[in-house]
Amino acid sequence: MDMGLTGKRALVCASSKGLGLGCARALAGEGVNLVMNARGAEALAQAASAIRDEFGVEVTEVVADITTAEGQARVLEAAGDVDILVNNAGGPPPGMWHDWNRDDFIKALDANMLTPIALMKALLPGMIDRGWGRVVNITSQSVKSPIPVLGLSNSARAGLTGYVAGTSRQVAGKGVIINNLLPGIHDTDRATSLDQAVVDAQGGTFEEVRAQRCASIPAGRYGTPEEFGAACAFLCSKHAGFIVGQNLLLDGGAVNTTL
Ligand code: NAP
Repeated sequence: MDMGLTGKRALVCASSKGLGLGCARALAGEGVNLVMNARGAEALAQAASAIRDEFGVEVTEVVADITTAEGQARVLEAAGDVDILVNNAGGPPPGMWHDWNRDDFIKALDANMLTPIALMKALLPGMIDRGWGRVVNITSQSVKSPIPVLGLSNSARAGLTGYVAGTSRQVAGKGVIINNLLPGIHDTDRATSLDQAVVDAQGGTFEEVRAQRCASIPAGRYGTPEEFGAACAFLCSKHAGFIVGQNLLLDGGAVNTTL
């Protein structure tokens, strides 16, 4: 299938590893030139270099914390007039409902709600002027079904989801399409550290904890960054112009709902 993406330019935030990297690689595979971002320079340089070698696209690296105003300003300056924005950042830490104070909530809201909103506000006007754009926000299955220990994530992502629900309908008529991708458990560093947290809290081996989590997923396994990236590339493609403001679960069937 021709995705119609050759020669487009995308900003993929938080993309040196994991799901962001999966999205960057899938877009590069469709001929999209990239602006990639992460805080750690080394992993970002390695990921960018591998993409240049494998796919022959242009890759600009911006080492920055995307959740800060200063980081966003530098990323946006490097990005310029991008056609595609993939919003992503690290997820908040786990805990109990009583663990978090105001500062913890502000940090989570900054990272997982206000940062993607700020980047959309900065980049949507250019997309609207050019009559074409795509935004994919990486959120979480917790938007559909709360993960009790991730209360900060549940809260911040619900706020972003509400903003996207309205905004996506305001810009769709201008050729700009915004959707959210909701990862269930995927095999990334984030999943490894959450599994390790369960081992530390409850005992057992890492393998036992992982097997238990796999057993809770109808597909019987974790998702891969490659699968996730492919879904992102489709939502950025010319075929996705009638998919507006949706929340697409990629969870191996883990969220047990009919709709
Ligand atoms: P990951 O494997 O830990 O990768 C995170 C990536 O984001 C790294 O490249 C990291 O590089 C970068 N990053 C983190 N914080 C950043 C920041 N403030 N500014 C710029 N770059 C930043 O995580 P992942 O599994 O891909 O998860 C991505 C998102 O999906 C997270 O929000 C996570 O909560 C959510 N999610 C993941 C899963 C899952 O099972 N994997 C499930 C549901 C939701 P640096 O550390 O060098 O900055």
